[in-house]
Amino acid sequence: MFHSARIKLTFWYVIIAAVITGFFSVLIYNFVTAEFDHELNRERIRIERALSPRPGNPPRIIIRQPDPELVAQMHKRILFHILTVDAIIVAIVALAGYLLAGRTLRPIKRIMEEQDRFISDASHELRTPLTAARTEIEVGLRDKQLNLPEAKELLESSLEEIKSMQILSDNLLSLAQEDDMGASMQSLSLSEILTKANKQVKPLAKRKGSSISIPNTEHRIKGNAERLIELFVILFDNAIKYSPEGKTITVTEKRTDGHVVIKVTDSGIGIRASEMPHIFDRFYRAEKSRNKTNVSGYGLGLSIAKKIVEEYKGTIHVKSKEGEGTTFILKLPVGEKKTA
Ligand code: ADP
Repeated sequence: MFHSARIKLTFWYVIIAAVITGFFSVLIYNFVTAEFDHELNRERIRIERALSPRPGNPPRIIIRQPDPELVAQMHKRILFHILTVDAIIVAIVALAGYLLAGRTLRPIKRIMEEQDRFISDASHELRTPLTAARTEIEVGLRDKQLNLPEAKELLESSLEEIKSMQILSDNLLSLAQEDDMGASMQSLSLSEILTKANKQVKPLAKRKGSSISIPNTEHRIKGNAERLIELFVILFDNAIKYSPEGKTITVTEKRTDGHVVIKVTDSGIGIRASEMPHIFDRFYRAEKSRNKTNVSGYGLGLSIAKKIVEEYKGTIHVKSKEGEGTTFILKLPVGEKKTA
């Protein structure tokens, strides 16, 4: 498909070049042949005048009109030269067009490949809970002696799978969501955003005996409240998930030129140096997280976080040491101070 699109694009480049060169060639041909005929005539008159005895007198020697066949031959040669130049131009455009079409289409090809990979990864992730739920229900239906407690257990297990699918579909929607930047950009209290995000991860923090220390700040950031809360929920959730029980996660913030730099630091399991370049990729889960069955997730959190940060022209980086902990460093545009 990529190759045929490239050929089609090249074809259109060539057509455009051929039309333009054709148009100018007609103009040039008409102009050059007219100039040639005119010069020939003028030269003839000039020679006749030079040979006449006195100015004003009719010339004694009359020079014949040039041979029409010779003139036609000259016209043909002019046409031949113009067509040769045209052919060279079209050949250069075809070659350059082919190369250019390849360059133009390469990012589109990459996006399409990424999209295909994304769809196949998403389907693969959905298939696991779907298959599990289906098998359980089928086995339950076939069991003639299924009693009420067993049926309840089956329903509970299916409900778990459904919840897991719901989380995945919410994540997928969040990744697909394109924020209407103009409409949703607001100046927001950083403190409020952090507090609301903290509230959402409270149940998980409670289960693990962890806590998050939120700074008392007056700073404001620019963006959409819902999306920014989602961003911090992802980072807090990960910090709790990938830390041992009873740890404190620290959030600090500092104002720089036009930005607020926010750091979320945990003293958890850390990330291997070899895995660091991939953690923002969709569906990527580090080996340790994949192997731990009690750490839930689809490997979509950080790719959503990155998307949100980039929506607001910010940046996100990570510093981590395996076994020591991780710090996510966010740089978000500062919001104007609210006037009362
Ligand atoms: P998920 O948490 O669902 O696996 P994410 O996209 O949120 O997916 O994170 C990708 C991977 O990055 C995780 O699987 C985990 O290995 C690693 N990771 C993210 N945050 C942390 C953290 N705070 N500490 C250690 N590892 C982390």
